[in-house]
Amino acid sequence: MKKKTIRDVDLEGKRVLMRVDFNVPLDGAGNITDDTRIRAALPTIDYALQAGARLVLMSHLGRPKGEVVESMRLTPVARRLSELLGQEVKKVDDCIGTNVKEKVEALKVGEVLLLENLRFHPEEEKNDEKFAQELAGLGEVFINDAFGTAHRAHASTEGVARLLPAAAGLLMEKEIEYLGKALENPAKPFITILGGAKVSDKIGVIENLMDKVDSFIIGGGMAYTFLKAKGKDVGDSLVEEDKVELAGDLLRRAEEKGALFLLPFDHIIADGFSEEAAVKVTEGEEIPDGWKGMDIGEKTREEFSRVLRGAKTVLWNGPLGVFEMAPFAKGTETIARLLAGMEATTIIGGGDTVAAIANLGLSENFTHISTGGGASLEFLEGKVLPGLAALNDK
Ligand code: AMP
Repeated sequence: MKKKTIRDVDLEGKRVLMRVDFNVPLDGAGNITDDTRIRAALPTIDYALQAGARLVLMSHLGRPKGEVVESMRLTPVARRLSELLGQEVKKVDDCIGTNVKEKVEALKVGEVLLLENLRFHPEEEKNDEKFAQELAGLGEVFINDAFGTAHRAHASTEGVARLLPAAAGLLMEKEIEYLGKALENPAKPFITILGGAKVSDKIGVIENLMDKVDSFIIGGGMAYTFLKAKGKDVGDSLVEEDKVELAGDLLRRAEEKGALFLLPFDHIIADGFSEEAAVKVTEGEEIPDGWKGMDIGEKTREEFSRVLRGAKTVLWNGPLGVFEMAPFAKGTETIARLLAGMEATTIIGGGDTVAAIANLGLSENFTHISTGGGASLEFLEGKVLPGLAALNDK
């Protein structure tokens, strides 16, 4: 990685201001229902404490829209982090101001303080200069480990990085290493699997990867816009009418570049978008009127699996069917199980795909599971991530 990392900076005795992504889901009673994001930050937190830091952590949670929302306080996060670290995590009820500054000054080496939800202040998302200066005043070194928000130029990501010596945390480093390698130097054959609801979300990724992949495998709702572009009957399946022409263009460009573009050629269809709907399997590519494509069919599962078995690098973003409903989860499950057992480098991105794999208990069986949905897509589109770009070069 060309950016400085936490390993390149001296943390001994310093006030270390660290941006983490503790944007965890909470239930109605304020309990954390999935602490993956807190656990993902532990290696960097441990590293900083071992290196003698006085650690100040900051994060956002949810969308409080610039106001104090009691249910979006980081208090449950501080509690959970204390349990995971096996030491007290102090917590303040704001992220700037005199009281916060005093608590930060009083921190001893090895102690941890968590600031309140950054997005209680509208200045955070506006990347306000003064707000960034106040945050920067709390540290002597800035470490950004929040890959999930690296695609946003906010005060706590981009603003602070311009005001303090700034380096990437270990999670940020790992994300960039795996996603970067897939873009720059993937072991071949390199196959990208794309699914999920919309073509429009993935156009940039397809365009940027066109020169790099050997094959695209397309499933999920987005496949039907491509099938329509090929002149197939897709019945009542999800189609983005205003993207049909572009889908046809992408198919032609992929063909010119020699990238294989695999689409489903049989489908599990339903007469409504519901678990209770009548379900059938099609013989071929076409879907009759009144029916929706909900998952890839058995022949498609077999063909996708056959092609994937030869891959050395696989990048997967987006489920291959409506996996939240049991009758339409088979495509996503089959491919998840196949990849989990493969020797290849397997990289997963996107909240839904990550959730599907976690539900199957397969999270440990992939080379890398990206913690940042939007950030990983923008990185794969070849876009500059402002939170990363603002860090110091090596
Ligand atoms: P995305 O957020 O774009 O990755 O899309 C994920 C969503 O796509 C999931 O909620 C899936 O249920 C949905 N999805 C997958 N396959 C289909 C399909 N064939 N028709 C409609 N929605 C789908």
